[in-house]
Amino acid sequence: MGVIEMINPATGERLGEVEETAPEAIERAMVHARKAFRRWGSLPLSERMDHLSRLRHYMVDHADELAETVVKDTGKVPLEALMTEILPTVELLKYYEKKAASILKPKKVPTPITLIGRRSWVEYRPMGVVAIIAPWNYPFQLAMIPAISALVAGNVVLIKPSELSPLTGLLIEKVFRKIGFPEDVVQVIHGGKEVGARLVSARPDKIFFTGSVTTGKQVMAAAAEHLIPVDLELGGKDPMIVFADADLRRAANGAVWGAFTNAGQTCMAVERLYVESSVYETFVQMVKERTEALRLAEENADVGSMTSPRQVDIVEEQLADAREKGATILCGGRRTGSDGLHFEPTVLVDVDHSMRIMTEETFGPVLAIMPFDTEEEAIRLANDTPYGLNSSIWTKNRKKARRVAGRIEAGNVCINDVMINMVNPDLPYGGIKLSGIGRYHGPEGLLSFCHRVALIAHPGRKKREIHWYPYSEPQTNAIRYLIRSLYGKGLRLSLKELFNLAGQFLRRK
Ligand code: NAD
Repeated sequence: MGVIEMINPATGERLGEVEETAPEAIERAMVHARKAFRRWGSLPLSERMDHLSRLRHYMVDHADELAETVVKDTGKVPLEALMTEILPTVELLKYYEKKAASILKPKKVPTPITLIGRRSWVEYRPMGVVAIIAPWNYPFQLAMIPAISALVAGNVVLIKPSELSPLTGLLIEKVFRKIGFPEDVVQVIHGGKEVGARLVSARPDKIFFTGSVTTGKQVMAAAAEHLIPVDLELGGKDPMIVFADADLRRAANGAVWGAFTNAGQTCMAVERLYVESSVYETFVQMVKERTEALRLAEENADVGSMTSPRQVDIVEEQLADAREKGATILCGGRRTGSDGLHFEPTVLVDVDHSMRIMTEETFGPVLAIMPFDTEEEAIRLANDTPYGLNSSIWTKNRKKARRVAGRIEAGNVCINDVMINMVNPDLPYGGIKLSGIGRYHGPEGLLSFCHRVALIAHPGRKKREIHWYPYSEPQTNAIRYLIRSLYGKGLRLSLKELFNLAGQFLRRK
């Protein structure tokens, strides 16, 4: 197997190398994981939560050190590493410490009158070994949050970090080792595409994948071979709609942060900004001024470097395509600095939907702005995309905000705010259309790592049931009568009549 070089993308500094996990080692990891599952999956929830609470305390005590490693690995600025990698992870841990017991406890459900005498309930059982395949843009939280959710639900995990953020993979390994987590409950598999594909073919019981649409489809196709359930958290091309009656200063600040945080390498970054024509010129100027004020590659930088050399090329290709088709670059548009992968925050106007910049995901600091005249047009433009991850609507008119939100095709909608939904651990997170399948965070985030087992129990003291053999004409009539009286209009069956009817059959041997 090969080795992966670790390079700080902000400086070009070589940080070392990590060996890819060999195919036999992946097989072995799977065997160890299955053994570990027998112990971990049968621990009482309170004991699992004790281990995870130690994880939270460790993360809080070492927050700066963890953030610093992620900064070296990705080129993001330290504040962003703390705010978007560490904070949401400890927030989610705390949330499940409080809520997991009620989310995972068996739930009694009603039993219809036709099944009289029985009790029904649902139990949540862990699935086994969960493979977590993570991307590089938020390499800590996008591996840790699904891993924690799977662990709380009683699963064990094999985490495969991206080959572009291998240092964070080593960090995750170290964190679990330091807190003395039970052996083999969390294992990290290092490597790139081939290693990811091997992990899928090692037949985990569930796959949680975060990454591009192209890879997501490959993972789903491979998982289909063994009918392995998959959750896919994929890309986005998120719209922001600014109506003339919005607080324009708040909206402009939100747009600039939403587009450029993490150097625009956020699946739910603001990528397409639609502004009502009457305020378009003013708003574009506000966005341009705020973008030009951002500090790059300084001690206290606002915008860090990009992480992936390939993504820098794609950004340049998309900008060239837009320019050729008539777009104007108002500011930015170039690589900057001699080392590393810094790219100037870029604002574009005179764009339309024939351009790649308005249709393909842009994983870099680029914001394209387009005017609209009517509410209907804004909704049409926002939905004119194969993606459906996040979106935002900016207006002081609450009714209009709710009305437009109800028509946006996306898994998440923010009103007068941007991307913040991800930070509320009670809200489910995920996309529609090409942005993915499945949800995590909130109660769904635990239940999606569980088999939902349906149970129904009869006291067991009757010889036979109304619908069992031998079949007879009166039985057919009774069923017919039941259908009409319980589900149709007019005729109503009293409980006494129902018992009488049932008695006719139950008296028979
Ligand atoms: P990617 O698809 O290239 O890689 C993601 C992971 O899949 C990596 O660990 C990679 O090694 C692995 N992989 C690649 N080929 C594989 C295969 N055939 N089988 C198994 N694993 C394989 O994505 P990326 O470039 O790392 O991440 C960026 C993408 O992730 C963007 O499209 C972004 O929008 C998306 N993303 C989505 C979310 C979300 O929550 N919806 C969050 C972050 C990133």
